[in-house]
Amino acid sequence: MSSINEEMPWLPADADETFDPLAHADVEIDTETPMVVTPRGGAREVGRSCYQVDTEFSTILVDCGLNQSSGDSFPDFRGLEAGSVGAIFLTHAHIDHSGGLPVLESRGLLADDAPIIATPPTIEIAKILLRDSLKIHRQESRNAGEEQQYVESHVEDVINRFEPVDYGGGRVEALADIPNEDPLVFQMGNAGHLLGSAWLMLQTNGYRTVFSGDLGGRASHLPDIAAPPQADLLILESTYGSLHSHPSMSDAQSELYNTVERAIQSGEPVLIPTFGVGRAQMLMLMFANRLHTLPTDIKDRVQLVVDGMAQEATDIYHQFTTNASFMDESIVNRVENGTKQPFLPDDTTFPETDSHRRAILSEANQSGGSVPIIVAPSWMITGGNSPRYFT
Ligand SMILES: [Zn+2]
Repeated sequence: MSSINEEMPWLPADADETFDPLAHADVEIDTETPMVVTPRGGAREVGRSCYQVDTEFSTILVDCGLNQSSGDSFPDFRGLEAGSVGAIFLTHAHIDHSGGLPVLESRGLLADDAPIIATPPTIEIAKILLRDSLKIHRQESRNAGEEQQYVESHVEDVINRFEPVDYGGGRVEALADIPNEDPLVFQMGNAGHLLGSAWLMLQTNGYRTVFSGDLGGRASHLPDIAAPPQADLLILESTYGSLHSHPSMSDAQSELYNTVERAIQSGEPVLIPTFGVGRAQMLMLMFANRLHTLPTDIKDRVQLVVDGMAQEATDIYHQFTTNASFMDESIVNRVENGTKQPFLPDDTTFPETDSHRRAILSEANQSGGSVPIIVAPSWMITGGNSPRYFT
């Protein structure tokens, strides 16, 4: 954004609770500037995406994420008055776009009836991720000897605010308790980043802003991105956008599959630590599509194991396999042709206990025993159930 420069930080270090970003930037909302966008996080950093949008009548937010790496965890809400946020749009469920919502709730910044507007898959995935994020927040606060920023009731209050919308658009006033003279309209379209992900267009008095949400991470089970409309202002976010030499998704999948195939041919168990939502389902679909092509003697011994959050998330994916707005045609067609659970190969195992996990591994050590391919959160083996296979 051209308005951000080193001389004028978007929120200066000495801003206090009464800080007014509009006064600071010396802008007023009028017919020439009918909409002002202030980043509350996600500017010059990775994580905690959050934008405040002010119009003549309303204050709304677009995304409210958590920063999982170093730096401040939650968006900077200084100067936001209690009860002042009339609505929130959520582009997608990833925690770096949704994990700050319970803090908004705990600090009372949302108006009583403020909805959190998102697509149905985004809502279902966000429920899992927010409840999981609470567990991590609880643990981290305990380890640091600090008070929690929010508790379970705030997460449940956030969940009660969700307002499902399909791709498309309309007046914000029809969904949120903002003044009915506010001409603010919205449009959401498929961003092709995660199940249910959306770009968002907001328009008022002829002025349009498009928020891309995250782009990238294209998976074959998602429909293509829908083209967003022209805009006066574009806020663009992407994953790994600064990397110039990413292998294509099909090359990366083939390389991974070949590595796994070599391992199982020599009877070695395979553990794939991964994000439980999105990436896990992409892997499961790949195995569901390819494992049956293995030579019979090996095919009979291979066992796909899906652990932890990847199980719950896959249930959500299966809820949307008949909906061509959210799922690629190839999946919808397969379900219409009788495949009940396209993301799961037959005979997938879902371990619930550590003794079950140990049994899976010990069977792999016996000659003729089955060889597991284990898909388990989390990536980098730092949390979730993947470290349990090393105990
Ligand atoms: Zn994302």
